[in-house]
Amino acid sequence: MKLENKVTIITGAGSGIGKETALLFAKEGAKVVVADINEKSGGETLAEIKKNGGEGYFAKLDVSNREEIKQVIKDAVEKYGKIDVLINNAGIIQDALVLKMTEEQWDRVINVNLKGTFNCIQAVVEVMINQGNGVIINTSSIVGLNGNVGQVNYAAAKAGLIGMTKTLAKELGKKGIRVNAVAPGFIITPMTSNVPEKVLEAMKEKTPLRRLGKAEDIAYAYLYLASDEANFVNGAVLSVDGGLVI
Ligand code: NAP
Repeated sequence: MKLENKVTIITGAGSGIGKETALLFAKEGAKVVVADINEKSGGETLAEIKKNGGEGYFAKLDVSNREEIKQVIKDAVEKYGKIDVLINNAGIIQDALVLKMTEEQWDRVINVNLKGTFNCIQAVVEVMINQGNGVIINTSSIVGLNGNVGQVNYAAAKAGLIGMTKTLAKELGKKGIRVNAVAPGFIITPMTSNVPEKVLEAMKEKTPLRRLGKAEDIAYAYLYLASDEANFVNGAVLSVDGGLVI
């Protein structure tokens, strides 16, 4: 097992990529804190982990709420004595063309995707510094690398995460903490469920591997970056997109 006893907090673990990651990490021996704003889906992820014989618990968390995050980190340390891995996977979209985008849409997407990640990192870093080790993985996107019409808020957040990842890789490396990002391509999850068939087909055509991504494609990238096999990987942005962004 690649993650034996590694205590891992996964935000947005109730659905899509986060859920697949929680299941994979539990299978690989991690103790998984299933952190999600959605109690129902988070509870379902946890139930599946338990059914498969894995270890973990559900923590209700809105990543834009700094008090809730502090509590989640405190509880995890109280329960398991350490935090080895934080995966900042929670994310949302609220799309609109620039002239139509409301301030609320801008603020919410920045608050969850960008500031939410900062909030979680700031809360966990003290624990990891005291341990002398830790792994932080942020979730960017091809949209953060290339931009996308109708997603100025999301693109800004996901591009911002790349700057945050590189800065913290420099700041925290000497403390034994690795900080990396994954930039998923187009992945079939509830987040992308409303995309019209025509757009999906066009996306496939543009992708050198001629398929869309699955949640497990990203879960395996998170697994690699979290594992000791990646212990010299720091400040990287790993594209997992079938070659869409080359
Ligand atoms: P998803 O299926 O919508 O799952 C996201 C999960 O995060 C949901 O359980 C959601 O709860 C939860 N969540 C939303 N707001 C939250 C908050 N404030 N605090 C904590 N949890 C919150 O999305 P996904 O496709 O798996 O995406 C996972 C990550 O990958 C996101 O960061 C996304 O931006 C990124 N990504 C996805 C794709 C893609 O093509 N799918 C591509 C590039 C990057 P609710 O269900 O209640 O909203």
